[in-house]
Amino acid sequence: MIFEKYEIKQGEKKRISVPVTETVSLDVTCIRGCSGGKTLVLTAGVHGCEYVGAETLKRLAEALKPEELSGNVILLPVANPSGFFAGTKRTVPEDGVNLNRAFPGKKEGTLSARTAWVIEQELYPEADFLADLHSGDGDEALHPLVFFPAAGTDEVNQKSLAAAKVLSVPYRVRSASRNGLYSWAVQKGIPAVLMERGGRGLWSEEEVRDYERDVRALMRFLKILPDANKESEENKDQAEINRAVYEEARHTGFWYPNVKPGEGIRKGQVLGKLENSAGEILQEVRAEFDGAVLYYSVALGVKKGELLAAYGQPSCFFAEQD
Ligand SMILES: [Zn+2]
Repeated sequence: MIFEKYEIKQGEKKRISVPVTETVSLDVTCIRGCSGGKTLVLTAGVHGCEYVGAETLKRLAEALKPEELSGNVILLPVANPSGFFAGTKRTVPEDGVNLNRAFPGKKEGTLSARTAWVIEQELYPEADFLADLHSGDGDEALHPLVFFPAAGTDEVNQKSLAAAKVLSVPYRVRSASRNGLYSWAVQKGIPAVLMERGGRGLWSEEEVRDYERDVRALMRFLKILPDANKESEENKDQAEINRAVYEEARHTGFWYPNVKPGEGIRKGQVLGKLENSAGEILQEVRAEFDGAVLYYSVALGVKKGELLAAYGQPSCFFAEQD
């Protein structure tokens, strides 16, 4: 329990360094409101090239004051510091493991397993709600969305879904993931979401502003940020994706996507082609149904097994077809 262990009292803000190994630690900011309430745990930087969330949490750690909070916020802007500072795609450089596939963690293990363990031991126990902020990776273009869980109990899944609905992102996607930072939290009984905004190893003021607005909406939803005039309302323009395809490369080759993030697509449409160095087509990605592009690789060279494109069918499309 981080508040007790690091002696963080009501009305206090403290920046602490939580050790993972003898040489690696996580910088965490704990803000305990002057009045009591729920605790929101915010994490980012699980993947080293996903900058919008990390910058948003760094700023919020500075901006949020105990006086304005009814409840508590714990911020971990960079969950994978060595990946972040080295600009590493997807993995923790020390062990080559994707931290978002390393849950549950291990007390004794490689750095990813230990980092996951520390997050479970130190951050999970305080959390009434958890949000993990991601972006498209260095090689991914992405349309903003929120993943909500299917791995929890009905109650936990429903609470997570209700929170996802107040976010300004256009799509929410049901996720079956089980071994990530947020999806393992869900299985431990903590309502949680994984948000995605920005990509390609870039960040902008506008994206950070949008992410900050989403985090503040979440805080109002949890009544941590009391604001009588601005109750968090459901985003009526947000569509639910119940059916999604994550198309992977069946060969190593040159990838030529033919879509844009968020673009509407028709069944049978070619979303991109994978070629060998002689220009022969190895794989053609065609949409299995009418829908929208969620994210895709912008890398020219891709390895077998890597994601080429993800697309989904928004609920409004079902309505049209029924
Ligand atoms: Zn990510």
